[in-house]
Amino acid sequence: RTVYVNGEYVPETEAKVSIFDRAFLMADGVYEVTSVIDGKLVDFEGHAVRLERSLNELEMRNPVTKDELLQIHRDLIEKNDLTEGGIYLQITRGAPADRDFAWPNPDETPSGIVLFTFAKNLVEMPSVKTGIKVISIEDIRWGRRDIKTVQLLYPSMGKMMAKKAGCDDAWMVEDGFVTEGTSNNAYIVKGNKIITRALSNDILHGITRAAVLRFAAEAQMEVEERNFTIEEAQAADEAFITSATTFVQPVVEIDGAQVGEGVPGKLALRLREIYIEESMKTAV
Ligand code: PLP
Repeated sequence: RTVYVNGEYVPETEAKVSIFDRAFLMADGVYEVTSVIDGKLVDFEGHAVRLERSLNELEMRNPVTKDELLQIHRDLIEKNDLTEGGIYLQITRGAPADRDFAWPNPDETPSGIVLFTFAKNLVEMPSVKTGIKVISIEDIRWGRRDIKTVQLLYPSMGKMMAKKAGCDDAWMVEDGFVTEGTSNNAYIVKGNKIITRALSNDILHGITRAAVLRFAAEAQMEVEERNFTIEEAQAADEAFITSATTFVQPVVEIDGAQVGEGVPGKLALRLREIYIEESMKTAV
């Protein structure tokens, strides 16, 4: 693969970043993952806006403009002949000469930026037909989950706990209520109503979530943004998750309890179709 590192396109085997990079030493970096279908970027605008927000919250500078960012994404799609999959983008606070808890002066230590592509079947996914199984785990992450940082150790542990339990993912629970999945937003369906936690610092403001809720409202589906418990989810008619790399994925089991009929829900599958169809209209 050809990857992008600080202004240059290089083969992945030649890509290098400093051991002093603060993302390596302190997880001092933010990221975005944008999906690609038919060689086009899905909701590039949404990801670019959230990236700016994450950077602003951490007083970090973006080393490239939005136009440059789009160009880099497109160049990588072309150089790697990517038709379906995604692009990972990471901006770090850079590599000061010395490790220090205080941030370096951005004029002396510019931000670092890397991007790489990955190929993945997104539209045809076997797990859409079967649905996924989740376990619940306590949400012990930090309090600013709205910032998309590379501090992913706990979500990574959660995914491993799920695997060890023979499941696909974990839903995190705080004060008795579901926050989100390890790398996705969580939803339940009761009757015709879609229920998902409201936006706050407790969850990542999913770009797919925003689009799905908009499309759902346009399709006259009822949406309620509120907290829900694992017990309520287990008793719901349907459950599903959303993220840039899974779109809408049905959840059929939570902590061993079958959700609904134990098969992917109708509404979730319909929403997935709508999402793919509608988001392709604005793909660039
Ligand atoms: N929540 C968390 C914790 C995530 O890591 C992600 C994506 O990586 C999401 C939600 C979904 O966000 P998006 O739809 O923007 O991919």
